Parts: sequence; structure tokens; C-alpha cells
Amino acid sequence: MADKMMACVRKEPGVLVVEKRNVPVIEESMDVILKVRLCTICGTDVHAEELPLPNVAMGHEGVGEIVDMGDGVEDFMIGDRVVASCMLSCGYCASCQQGEPSACLNPQGRVQHGIVMDGYQAEYVRVPFAPFSICKIPDALSDEQGILTGDIFSTGVGVLERAGMKVGDAIAIFAQGPLGLCVTAAARALGAGLIITVEPDPFRRKVSKKMGANIVLDPTDSDVVHKILDITEGYGVNIAVEAVGKEETLQGAFGTARIGGAITSLGVYGFDFENLSIPTAHDSIVPDTFYHRKFVTTLCPSGRYRLQRLLDLLQYGNVNLDPLWTHTMPLKDILKGYEMSKDLKSKTLKIAVRP
Ligand SMILES: [Zn+2]
Ligand SMILES: [Zn+2]
Repeated sequence: MADKMMACVRKEPGVLVVEKRNVPVIEESMDVILKVRLCTICGTDVHAEELPLPNVAMGHEGVGEIVDMGDGVEDFMIGDRVVASCMLSCGYCASCQQGEPSACLNPQGRVQHGIVMDGYQAEYVRVPFAPFSICKIPDALSDEQGILTGDIFSTGVGVLERAGMKVGDAIAIFAQGPLGLCVTAAARALGAGLIITVEPDPFRRKVSKKMGANIVLDPTDSDVVHKILDITEGYGVNIAVEAVGKEETLQGAFGTARIGGAITSLGVYGFDFENLSIPTAHDSIVPDTFYHRKFVTTLCPSGRYRLQRLLDLLQYGNVNLDPLWTHTMPLKDILKGYEMSKDLKSKTLKIAVRP
């Protein structure tokens, strides 16, 4: 194994470079070292570019081959092709033991690649607490299918699970970026009834149909809240999903969730809630009051057996995430990929980046 590798590194807030750095080595008994086969750029990476933690290799989504492992790692072998959860977990704390590893309470466990520790936009990466956070990818699935279970597909399924989705539920999803599109695919796979999506970009609207949306609305040419209320005979939807982290989409979700329903949000919020009003246009008895609805937020549900379930769903279920992959590029060109990810006109959803 070489001792130097290429990596995309946050040198200082807002400054990314592709440079040579040392190949990581085993530090703890539960570590594995992966030779990265595939990584990608997430909306979270675009936020993470600005973090005040310098000299960290970027990226929290990756598929790799195990090239080294600590002596505490069982069940895995050198050469295994694995995906890792984007949120790591210790396996021992109360949250981990109670089935919520993404809420890991152990500060040593709750670290994230590309945020505080070197991530997957590199030729090699170290994964701590690996047995709790990595899963073998079956031969029948591609790297591109596998990698999505580590973050956005798990999140897409998770927002619906945390909202308590039932078969046949009417669901509205505000914003159809890669994450919102994963919610659409997940809603279809989990047995939603009517799926209404809201997205200003025509390319993303087209993909939204492919992923399972029944009705796709453009927020720039209609009052979408009233349209969704009309479509649902004034009641609103069972679950309204906010999928971008903007005030207007969150307001749309609040305005369209029916009484007894749920608002669920997976956005990374870059604003405070000062101006948020809670419209309930469909509630004529107590106007502008928000009651008897459930509001849940969701980070990415994680852990080895979570990955296993999602890989099974991709292998044996009825869900096709391939339309998300719009571009491919080598790691040395990844800075161009960051520019494309910020530019809506580039028709970029997920970029397959290979070292
Ligand atoms: Zn992500
Ligand atoms: Zn834990």
C-alpha cells in the first residue's frame, strides 16, 4: 500500500483543494481502512465546505474495499466491498443499544467523516467502530446503489418512518433535490397512495415523475398550498415533507399537513425561525392554529443492520434510484463537481466520483 494518497481537503473555511496526504492507518481495534471505490458530493458537503475545522478530507458517503482492519473487527474480511453509514456510532451507549445509533451519545462514536475526521473524498479512509457502521454490499448491487444506503436513501426512508407513515398515505414532498427525490422513491417503495411533489426546476420535476410522484407542481406558477388542499378535498396530506431546509418549503409543509397528520423535515437549516408563520388554511374552525399534528425532524438513520435492510430493499424490493446518477468524474476533478452541485442549471443530482 502506498503511503501517500490524493484527497479533497478543506484547507480553511470555504477553501477546498485536491492534494496529497498520508494514507490513514489503523488506530483502534475496531477500525477498518477502506480503499475507496466510489464517493460522491452531498448537499451536506456543500454546507461542510464552510466549517471552521481546517485540514479535514471531505466526504461522508462512500463505498470501499477493506484493505486493513483492527484485531477487534469480526465478521468482515480483507477484500470485502462495504458501504458505511454517514453517521458513525459506538454500539455501546444507550441510544445505540436502544436502536437509534444515529443518536449515538458517545462523543468518540458520534463523529462524522468530512466534518471532524477525514472522509471519503480520498483514495483511502479510516472508519472507526466499523462493525457497527459498515455492511457488505451484495454482488447483485452496484457501488452506486450501495452508497445511497449510507446516507440519502436511509434519510428518505427515515423521514417517513419517523412520521409514522401508513400504507396508502397521501404524501406531499417540498423540494426534489437528491434527498427529496429519495423521499419520493421511498414513499413509493413503502406503499404510499397519492404522492405530490413540489419543485421549481423542470429537470428535477421530470426525474420526480420517474421516481414515483403522481402529481408534480411548480411553486413558481401556482399557489401550491391551495392546490394541494384542493387535490386532497380540503383536508391536506397525511404527511408533508420538507426536503431542502428553507423557510418557504417548511411553511408549505405546515400548510398542507392535515389534522392528525405529520410534518417531517430533513433539511439542514441555514436560517432562524423568526419569520415562520404556521398557516393552516384548511382549518376553518381555528384559523392559523397548529394543533394535533406531529412535527418531526430527522438526521440519517444509521448502523450496520439499517444498511442491511436498505440493501435488501434495493436488491429485492421495487425501487430504482438510478435516475439520481447524472454525472461521473475522477477524484482529481472533484472541485468542478462542487461547482456543478451548487449550480441548478447544471442538471446535477448525484455525481459518481471515483479515485
Ligand atoms: Zn450526505
Ligand atoms: Zn453509541
